[in-house]
Amino acid sequence: MAPFSFRLSHRDGDARRGEMQTPHGSIQTPAFMPVGTRGAVKGVTMRQLEEVGAEIILGNTYHLYLKPGDSLIARSGGLHRFIGWDRPILTDSGGYQIFSLAEMRRIREEGSEFRSHLDGSLHMLTPERATDIQAQLGSDIAMVLDECIATPAPLAAAREAMERSVRWARRARTRFLQLKDPDGRPPGVTVTNPGQAQFGIIQGGIHLELRTESVERTVDIGFDAFAIGGLSVGEPADVMYDVAGHVARQLPPDRPRYLMGTGMPDDLIESVARGIDLFDCVLPTRNARNGQLFTRSGPLSIKNARFAEDTGPPDPDCPCYTCTRCSRAYLRHLFMAGEMTGSTLNTVHNLFFYLDTMRRIREAILFGTFEKLRQEFRQTYSRRPHH
Ligand SMILES: [Zn+2]
Repeated sequence: MAPFSFRLSHRDGDARRGEMQTPHGSIQTPAFMPVGTRGAVKGVTMRQLEEVGAEIILGNTYHLYLKPGDSLIARSGGLHRFIGWDRPILTDSGGYQIFSLAEMRRIREEGSEFRSHLDGSLHMLTPERATDIQAQLGSDIAMVLDECIATPAPLAAAREAMERSVRWARRARTRFLQLKDPDGRPPGVTVTNPGQAQFGIIQGGIHLELRTESVERTVDIGFDAFAIGGLSVGEPADVMYDVAGHVARQLPPDRPRYLMGTGMPDDLIESVARGIDLFDCVLPTRNARNGQLFTRSGPLSIKNARFAEDTGPPDPDCPCYTCTRCSRAYLRHLFMAGEMTGSTLNTVHNLFFYLDTMRRIREAILFGTFEKLRQEFRQTYSRRPHH
């Protein structure tokens, strides 16, 4: 299997066009990863994901560890085989879900202790354990365990979490390298994807000096690439752009940069403009299930009564399956009737819209017209529902 690599092919301003190689194939960047929380991207099949052009999906370590368990998935041959997806997969470390979902959490130097949101059972996730779990899942890209905190956090709290995240990152890297060595491998861990790569995570809240320090110390440990964590957690968009740009400028140019958990369609363009290469977000799938469709002019709420007899497609500019087959009236009917097919059709469109936006971004960088695309997007896309 081909090990992890990244090749940067074009630049347009700070925007970058490249290609990531993983054991399960390549990914054109900038790229968006649909979120497959519990081994499924909610509402769609793997075939539909392939049809909308997904090149990589994200799996949540926290959820898969609790159910059905990483050992069961390892015995099934790893996550790719278990879920029937042979393209690349990135798994997060569970840190963010412990922060946002777990019923109780206690951060210690050893790791993060928490109670499952499913049954209240007590668990301890350490940097080593998070690395082991992801080795058993066999994702192509594993993330280090980091400590997530609420934003805006005071400087002292943000510093403490950043420094702990650096210490945890060092332990996660040590464990990852042990797992790579067949002779030094800790017992009881099945490595289902020997070509797995590991990304470090930059923390530091909205404090630029902390971010700079986190970059220096995390890059120093040595990872295949780097992610920016702790953003898209409630801070204003311009603050997020400033921090993402500040961090991206300092990261090694020959490695991909992943902005975790972002975002709205305009966030993707603005972040690419600042040198980001990789994104994930639940918005296209979650909002689809709530009846919100993303279009080139902004989000549209399909439950609106004015669509009851609207025979037009959800987005006239979109060539996706949903837009070529279904009217707004039909999708509104399915939503109002609670038909699960409605969620599927909405999800197909929203994912197509996100992935198509990334295709347009990549093409614009290739032709040196990214700034024009960005300005067009600013003029035509509104965050406010326009219907
Ligand atoms: Zn569509």
